[in-house]
Amino acid sequence: MTKNIKPEISIVIPVYNEEAGLQDLFTRLMDALQKLNRSFEIILTNDGSVDKSYSILKNFHARYPMNVRIIDFLGNYGQHMAIIAAFERSKGDIIITLDADLQNPPEEIYKLLQKFDAGYDYVGSYRANRQDTFFRKYVSRLINWGREKITHIKMKDQGCMLRAYSRNIIEKIVESKEASTFIPALAFHFSQNPTEVEVRHDERAYGESKYSLYMLTRLNFDLITGFSLVPLQLFTLFGIVISGISGLFSLYMIGRRFYCGPELEGGFTLLTIVFFLLSVLILGVGLIGEYVGRIFQSVSNRPRYVIRSILEKN
Ligand code: UDP
Ligand code: MG
Repeated sequence: MTKNIKPEISIVIPVYNEEAGLQDLFTRLMDALQKLNRSFEIILTNDGSVDKSYSILKNFHARYPMNVRIIDFLGNYGQHMAIIAAFERSKGDIIITLDADLQNPPEEIYKLLQKFDAGYDYVGSYRANRQDTFFRKYVSRLINWGREKITHIKMKDQGCMLRAYSRNIIEKIVESKEASTFIPALAFHFSQNPTEVEVRHDERAYGESKYSLYMLTRLNFDLITGFSLVPLQLFTLFGIVISGISGLFSLYMIGRRFYCGPELEGGFTLLTIVFFLLSVLILGVGLIGEYVGRIFQSVSNRPRYVIRSILEKN
């Protein structure tokens, strides 16, 4: 009689080459969850790991078949797709995401639940003593500032995935079908009553970060182009101002041609201006490309990920 019984909490964890830490994660997570005295399920997505992660996940499922479900991706589709796939199959009223690398301590989950019980439908988190390099800390502060200015999304710390969402929000996220997305931002967008709590943040216990600087840059591009048209609009405004100025300048040059005759000097000044405008143009083409790319991906309507198999008992 376990069929269709809804757990109160769904824990969602993306896994990519985390063999070294998984065992430790399971032990601590099960411990923390059992202390909460609420029914729960754990959904882990294996995001195309090439190490032993999947066989460790299989064992975990074999040990707790009623509580643990495993989704096995055919390839590496990224952390956020791994989370979405788990969202689609989650059954809990409260859905909590967590990283597999133990940077988000499972022992902090209760803090999110307390906020939920107080009536919030989205509980974000920020890291108490962020264990990251100085460079990443500084860059992320700058990016946060820019994102808040351009989109309406307020988030103290976009790098912390220990977050809780209501079933309502998860359903909207699943409906969204966006090709590339940043889940906490999308959730904030759909939330009626969001809040944030401070959580502990540990150093990565095993392995190393799967995110390169390039991927972080991509993520932030997606964040901005996915939630705002302001960059395009700024670009148009800039175009209007520049064409105004160059219009006036041409008038001046024509007048000058009549009164002073042809002008030959100042060629380099002109080149500088032309180069500047050219670079702005290239930037603009790239920017339009970002949006066209997003449109292309959603129009082509391909499945965003392929699942090889699912291990579940209910
Ligand atoms: N992850 C994933 N697919 C990827 C990259 C990462 O599922 O392509 C998972 C990874 O296993 C971890 C989480 O996403 O559970 C966060 O990754 P990581 O710790 O490398 O990111 P960081 O903490 O450095 O931002
Ligand atoms: Mg990490």
